[in-house]
Amino acid sequence: MKWKNTDAREYYSKYKKVDIKNGQGWFEVYDLPGDIYAICEPQHFQEVNSYLIIGSEKGLLFDTGMGICNIELVVKELYEGELIVVNSHFHFDHIGDNYRFDQVYIFDDSFAKAMASSGFEKSGLGNQLGEDMFLFDYPKGFDPDAFRIPPYKVQLLGDGDIFDLGNRKLTVIHTPGHSNDSIMLLDNENRILFTGDTFYLGALYAHFDCVEFGKSSLSDYYKSMNELKDKITEVDSLYCSHNDFIVDPTKISEAALALESILKNNSKNAIKTKSAHSYLEDASRLKEYQFDGFSIVVCSNFLI
Ligand SMILES: [Zn+2]
Repeated sequence: MKWKNTDAREYYSKYKKVDIKNGQGWFEVYDLPGDIYAICEPQHFQEVNSYLIIGSEKGLLFDTGMGICNIELVVKELYEGELIVVNSHFHFDHIGDNYRFDQVYIFDDSFAKAMASSGFEKSGLGNQLGEDMFLFDYPKGFDPDAFRIPPYKVQLLGDGDIFDLGNRKLTVIHTPGHSNDSIMLLDNENRILFTGDTFYLGALYAHFDCVEFGKSSLSDYYKSMNELKDKITEVDSLYCSHNDFIVDPTKISEAALALESILKNNSKNAIKTKSAHSYLEDASRLKEYQFDGFSIVVCSNFLI
């Protein structure tokens, strides 16, 4: 992959950038509607977004990023009050700095719990820390050879749990598919749905089957999205964990239909899968289907 040569991501210009002192040459922060900061890592191919959601009594950090630089310094600069930390799911690009916080809420799932107690070794990352995954050189002080994610302390959460931040409440919606522990957070008062990796504009992954990434399920993914479309009639915006921050909620219904067409084997949208979408698995076994603004990557034997 030659990510360094791809076009600049113009969507950042739609949002209000915040000047921060502790970006470490790595993090960028955007001030989004609804008292929410997007803390993003635009110099890595993953373009992961963590969200700091501010309430009148508490703040909530949804994911801790890649662990390449220190997200805690950024969070402390933006918010000094009591902080709840929650993971959208256990994949490495969302849990990298979990260990810097006293405890992190995770969905009660065997893969997620195993990750918390063992941490994550660089060997599980495939080529994710290769130089060509970075827009510029490695950030100052970062040694890719020494990279590992240490274990972290957790509290378990479940579907329907509510985080009360004072003037806003965030409800957990379990949305298995991408991984079994994937959750979203619904902010009813502000009509926002935080989607984690279950929906964003870009390639959606439904092909994992290994210890490092757990087990994706195409049928669970479809069920999650199909149920979700009826639950979010009051939502105005999706806030997504990769790529562009804010997406129209009609995309949830589109994704449900897309997943259904793949499951029924009648999608005509198959495209050549990019090698960037394989991590530890055999790229030749992957299939990718293109839809409007997003694609879905599956394993060719998903029906077996
Ligand atoms: Zn991710």
